Amino acid sequence: MTTTSHIQDALQTVYEKYKDVHDGEVATYIPELAKAKPDDFGICLATVDGQVFSVGDWQQEFTIQSICKPFAFLMALEECGREAVLQKVCVEPSGDAFNSIELEPKTMRPFNPMINAGAIAIASMIKKSSREEGVQAYVDKMQMAAGRTLDFDDAVLASETATGNRNRAIAYLMLNFGIIDAAVDHALHQYFSQCSLLVNCADLAMMAATLANMGINPVTRNQVFELEYVKDVLAVMFTCGLYDYAGEWAYRVGLPAKSGVGGGIIAVVNRQLGIAVYSPRLDPKGNSVRGIGVCKELALHLGLHAFEFTNVGSSFMQWLSAD
Ligand code: GLN
Repeated sequence: MTTTSHIQDALQTVYEKYKDVHDGEVATYIPELAKAKPDDFGICLATVDGQVFSVGDWQQEFTIQSICKPFAFLMALEECGREAVLQKVCVEPSGDAFNSIELEPKTMRPFNPMINAGAIAIASMIKKSSREEGVQAYVDKMQMAAGRTLDFDDAVLASETATGNRNRAIAYLMLNFGIIDAAVDHALHQYFSQCSLLVNCADLAMMAATLANMGINPVTRNQVFELEYVKDVLAVMFTCGLYDYAGEWAYRVGLPAKSGVGGGIIAVVNRQLGIAVYSPRLDPKGNSVRGIGVCKELALHLGLHAFEFTNVGSSFMQWLSAD
């Protein structure tokens, strides 16, 4: 058996194992998300040398939702620098739900950029003078990371704009404490638009592999993100990417990751590969049930945990190149 077919087999095996798991519910608090087909299931793995392995409904598009947060955080770091960003957002795990209405009590900053409060503060920083320009700058980056043209789901954007009062409340709280400026609707439009980007598993795996590959898209070889800030984002994904499941995730899977209520999840194996799973049935914390299961299983079987004793940084790539 060749090594690459070993990887394809590992994806197939984990797909077969989880395809009959029907636990969890599709998100409905954004009404349009309720239209997702609950049993859709896709997995994709992209390596830093540009190989892509996929199984199931990997071409099915869905909205990126909170998986936009690490990429928007990167954009803010690139545009404003580390210190300016940290003045507005902490990098501490909150231990609370993604949509919790809370700020760090001493400084009144949001706990981290992976929860809604932090992501809205980041959106406020990267918005441009016109709404279109800010959203376009985000799409341009995301298209470079995916390596293809991407669209928005306008119905999801309209649905969240109409119903996102909890996020609106968080934004006004942050306006009160001087974390965001007075253009609250503009910042929320930037944030809701970011969440409404349509992607499939291959796009997300390539974005994750771009993070793994020091900011360079492994296929196009374009430098998408500044190397200097990639580690900032991976560190915060490691400690905060799964919200109030982040500690157990770090323990069991051991990879920087981000989930979204659209049903997507990404995990990054630094300098080696990106993983993406799509399955819209969520657990009570808003994370994809199968997505978590698949990542746990792949981390175990491919030895991907950051502190795995067999993982000496480049072990996986040596294994691949043994073909
Ligand atoms: N757009 C969603 C929200 O703000 C994103 C949440 C998520 O994916 N966890 O509620």
